[in-house]
Amino acid sequence: MKMTMDKYDIEKLRNLPIEGVAQRLGLRVERHKSLCPFHEDSHPSLSFKVSKNTCRCFVCMTQSIGPIDLVMRHLGKDFKEACRWLADEHNIILDEWKPAQTDEVQKPFDATRFERFFERPWLLPEARKFLFDERRIDPRVVRWCRLTSWKDKQGVPWLQTPYYDCEGKLVGVQNRNLIRGALPRFRFPSGSQCGIYNLPVLNLLKPGEQLFITEGCSDCWAMLSAGHKAIAIPSATLLTNDVRGKMEEVRCKFGIQFHMFPDNDTPGERLFFQLQKVLPSLVHHQLPLGCKDFSEYYLQTITKTKIQNG
Ligand SMILES: [Zn+2]
Repeated sequence: MKMTMDKYDIEKLRNLPIEGVAQRLGLRVERHKSLCPFHEDSHPSLSFKVSKNTCRCFVCMTQSIGPIDLVMRHLGKDFKEACRWLADEHNIILDEWKPAQTDEVQKPFDATRFERFFERPWLLPEARKFLFDERRIDPRVVRWCRLTSWKDKQGVPWLQTPYYDCEGKLVGVQNRNLIRGALPRFRFPSGSQCGIYNLPVLNLLKPGEQLFITEGCSDCWAMLSAGHKAIAIPSATLLTNDVRGKMEEVRCKFGIQFHMFPDNDTPGERLFFQLQKVLPSLVHHQLPLGCKDFSEYYLQTITKTKIQNG
């Protein structure tokens, strides 16, 4: 595990809406105020400044604090622990949880060891709950993506996501821990190439059809469930040369128009502008205010539709 946190990861965490973070910590926020958990408080004296994404108690604090500090103080965690807690709560994949960098010596990916798992996918109750109850992913998408699950010797359930190249060759596997809050969050078999996700969809694209680019595979499943064709690039990261090169390749080979709903924060916007340099025709779609990513938006729309349909 790396000793330092990636600065883009940290920025992503710093940009998590402060009031949402406070609520996840169990504070009741009303009209940008809540009871201060750091002193005996009977009138809400912790106040939130949404524009600066900070909060401050005017009784017991000398200065404003951001989301990471709030978590550190409230849960008594150190900086790194607080970052991991925040990332886990918000489905952000920290750099330290990603596959080892290619400059480290590791065994090449052995596809033959894993292929059979995806031939007959199997969903544990924990995986069904995660995919269908919490994220409302369409079962057809789960089948198309060949998502499967397994339990390790300790009884920990993992969701297993295969990564294929354009020709349908298995090139990497992502394991996601299905126990809430458990670490490590992700595991990748040695040599896994988990760069661009869902590349086989390119073969289904008709001329002139839209292709959405999402951040991370769970946003991609939401996008597919919403009826769009989509691929995903690794989440919460600066675009690597490798991914940039692959996108350029996809653009030249398939000549399609790319679309994107960037995450509603600074890193999300920056990723959009980076991608736009490689894909000049990339179309920007704005998420509604209050939706941090497409998954959240998708959940809102699907819930609304369900209410309307009785
Ligand atoms: Zn206070």
